[in-house]
Amino acid sequence: MCDHDNIADNGICMSCGVDINSQEFLDSLPPAPEDLSYLGDLMGIIRIAQTTAQEYTRRLVTEPQPELVWAEILPPSFIVAKVLGYRGDYQRWGEVCKEYTEHIDNLPSIL
Ligand SMILES: [Zn+2]
Repeated sequence: MCDHDNIADNGICMSCGVDINSQEFLDSLPPAPEDLSYLGDLMGIIRIAQTTAQEYTRRLVTEPQPELVWAEILPPSFIVAKVLGYRGDYQRWGEVCKEYTEHIDNLPSIL
């Protein structure tokens, strides 16, 4: 069984000769698991992360203890994100929101 890990620039496997661009090859691949086809409301989830990051940044002006702000605003935003289909856990959600605070001035205005 070839792993096709040696693909030439023209898409031909150097080991077994299969063309990975051919429909025949694509048809031979196992279908993606059903539950991976739904990624959730990604734009909604991103918007929640942005809103949370903005709220955090805004409150930080008057709140000297950042961890208290996070403890207050993260849980409700996590639940909303979960409802929208967010797949990560609570810890990861905190990381996502904190990452957004570092790009708070560069957020797309349409969101
Ligand atoms: Zn191969």
